[in-house]
Amino acid sequence: KKIIIAIDGYSSTGKSTMAKKLARQVGYRYIDSGAMYRAVALYALRHGMADTGGSVDEARLTAALPGIAIDFKVTPDGQRTMLNGEDVENEIRSMTVSQAVSPVAAVAAVRHAMTDLQQQMGREKGIVMDGRDIGTTVFPDAEMKVFVTASAETRARRRFDELKAKNMNAGYDEVLANLRERDHIDETRAESPLRKAADAFMLDNSDMTLDEQDALLLRIFNE
Ligand code: C5P
Repeated sequence: KKIIIAIDGYSSTGKSTMAKKLARQVGYRYIDSGAMYRAVALYALRHGMADTGGSVDEARLTAALPGIAIDFKVTPDGQRTMLNGEDVENEIRSMTVSQAVSPVAAVAAVRHAMTDLQQQMGREKGIVMDGRDIGTTVFPDAEMKVFVTASAETRARRRFDELKAKNMNAGYDEVLANLRERDHIDETRAESPLRKAADAFMLDNSDMTLDEQDALLLRIFNE
């Protein structure tokens, strides 16, 4: 029997790495909901509807939504996020997009559009979706829910190392400040704020090895 697995939690907890790996191990499709919000933020940045200072032109962005098509393309080196047919996978991971995304994701119409799209993608069961509100809003009936957290410093270090490995330079302090800022906006927004679903398994991986984490997830899956 195929189920829906929701992996939510804070930024840079390694959610996507764990979700991708679990999907591979159980033969499910992986869907990165954060990539969808990042693609909308990139569109808004390009069209002057958002900036890195956190302002968003809600009315213009809401009106533009029908013209924003987001999709994933499966390639030999993984999934690529597509924005109106353009591969934006690399660009959406930049610091610029990270700085603009949370205010964009707080816009109610943006959330409604992405939630609809995510629910469509999940119609065929056998998916692992990671994000902030998958277990609470997108799939409140998901059969398996995990909420991932770790200390802000641990998370900033991981994100800093990841950006460095991709030659996308950002200072550690800047990365830490961005994580804190995004967490705060995500936790306090009116629409589907970041929070643990009552029935989600709480996973703090600050002091956990990847092997321990994988074993734990498979154990929960097999329960
Ligand atoms: O997961 P990732 O860090 O790439 O997500 C980027 C941003 O998108 C988050 O900081 C959050 O503001 C937003 N997001 C969201 N709901 C989701 C996934 C991401 O609001 N389900």
